[in-house]
Amino acid sequence: MDRNNKGQFVSRPLKECVYKGHEKDYKRDWYLKNKKRLLKRSRERYQENKERYSVATKLWQMRNAEKVKVYKQKNKDAIRFGGNRKIVLKRDSNSCQVCGKTDKLVIHHLDETENRKKMNANNNIDNLITLCRGCHIKVHRNKVKI
Ligand SMILES: [Zn+2]
Ligand SMILES: [Zn+2]
Repeated sequence: MDRNNKGQFVSRPLKECVYKGHEKDYKRDWYLKNKKRLLKRSRERYQENKERYSVATKLWQMRNAEKVKVYKQKNKDAIRFGGNRKIVLKRDSNSCQVCGKTDKLVIHHLDETENRKKMNANNNIDNLITLCRGCHIKVHRNKVKI
């Protein structure tokens, strides 16, 4: 949309070429030319409506709790265990490698007790082990040796 000299919005007249393909090119050129301005405008609009958007997002998340859960878990897996979480669980046949429990499982980094920095964690399958929550705490308190 452009503005006329009174400041009103007017739809931009198409150039003489009426072939559909060319019309498309023309629109793309216009987009590229005005990209900065458009992006700025959309950022502004986002800032203006930030609260409304966040409410809408929350409502969507409430309606789609299952989907959100899956997304979050996927994200977590990708970041924390380099995507190896499922592989390790399968290898350890979904059970704690200390006591054999099969519920409330967590994945533990074997080198984690020494190296507490979780960034750049060693996510090699050999460095990961399945534990239940209880045993995990014991391992971190050095009450159980693996
Ligand atoms: Zn256990
Ligand atoms: Zn751990």
